[in-house]
Amino acid sequence: MNWGLIGASTIAAEHMIGALRACGADPVWVVSGSLPHAQRFAAEHGVARAGDDLAVMLADPGVEAVYISSTNEKHRAQALAAIAAGKHVICEKPLAMTVAEAVGMVRAAREAGVVFATNHHLRNAGSHQAIRALIAQGRIGTVLSLRVHHAVHLPPHLQGWRINDAGAGGGVIPDITVHDADTVRFLTGEDPVDVVAQAGVSGMGQGVEDSVMSVWSLPSGAMVMAHESFTHPFAGSGVEVHGTEGSILASGVMTQAPVGQVTVVTAAGRQAVPFAAHDLYAHGVAAVIAAVRGEGQPSASGEDGVKSLAVALAVREAAASGRRVPVGYGGA
Ligand code: NDP
Repeated sequence: MNWGLIGASTIAAEHMIGALRACGADPVWVVSGSLPHAQRFAAEHGVARAGDDLAVMLADPGVEAVYISSTNEKHRAQALAAIAAGKHVICEKPLAMTVAEAVGMVRAAREAGVVFATNHHLRNAGSHQAIRALIAQGRIGTVLSLRVHHAVHLPPHLQGWRINDAGAGGGVIPDITVHDADTVRFLTGEDPVDVVAQAGVSGMGQGVEDSVMSVWSLPSGAMVMAHESFTHPFAGSGVEVHGTEGSILASGVMTQAPVGQVTVVTAAGRQAVPFAAHDLYAHGVAAVIAAVRGEGQPSASGEDGVKSLAVALAVREAAASGRRVPVGYGGA
């Protein structure tokens, strides 16, 4: 299966080209806003064709699917163009700048009959799949609360637009809160109802927030406490799920690699939980390729991307207004 890359990005270079190839897929095109950048990227990564005109790549009938990893404000127009050309799409998070835009992308894909996936990698992790299974099996009873620790230190090569360009979708909320929203939805099967939040700048953000703490209500009554940041070098990451009969403590699992530890604690004691160590991104790509063949669904669909964005934008609004904000899913 031949793929086109839209965006000559770090995530494509560091994870997704390898993930596509691990699934037997071939990235044959890369399109960037800058032709020299696209050409350099293509040469470095063994991609046959490079260009700066998306329409030319989309007119190539040999390209069946595209992976969009441009900056966030470009996702919508690029996805709509790819869908109109009949290509299947994996789009990076956040899907768009607004919920309405994201809903429009998902609707367009549905009407065109193409597969549309959101690249939420964490739900592909063996660790999160194991946590979800423990919750579903009732090992911790009724879920009372979750605590998500996702305060990291953004490495220098990723700082750019994320810390200084609101117009490109910068800020920790569109960058990391979306992933935490997707993870909580994946683990619990619940869509957050409303949120309160505080956000700020703690040393990196220039015109965008680099740190945020928020509390979300789930329909069951469970509460979620989430912390995302770009400025915490030593905080580590993790998720805790606390229930009436036990707690799941997972450390080091909010990452791009299949690492970390998961422990379940009940009246019977503490037990380490084994989990699969497959590549998160390849797992997601494999599901998309299967979906294109008519077998199953992407692990994170377009609707999942709409919903994670909706939670993140509610968090941003709650932080800006100081009020409790209902999450508006735009009909997704
Ligand atoms: P980068 O900053 O590496 O690249 C984004 C865009 O910036 C590129 O597509 C390119 O524009 C432009 N660019 C980058 N380097 C150059 C250069 N040297 N010269 C000219 N232009 C350049 O983005 P990231 O990989 O960090 O993020 C891309 C997207 O992926 C974002 O939407 C982000 O949210 C998402 N992401 C998702 C992750 C996940 O785990 N799901 C992890 C990391 C990022 P052009 O589009 O014109 O090629």
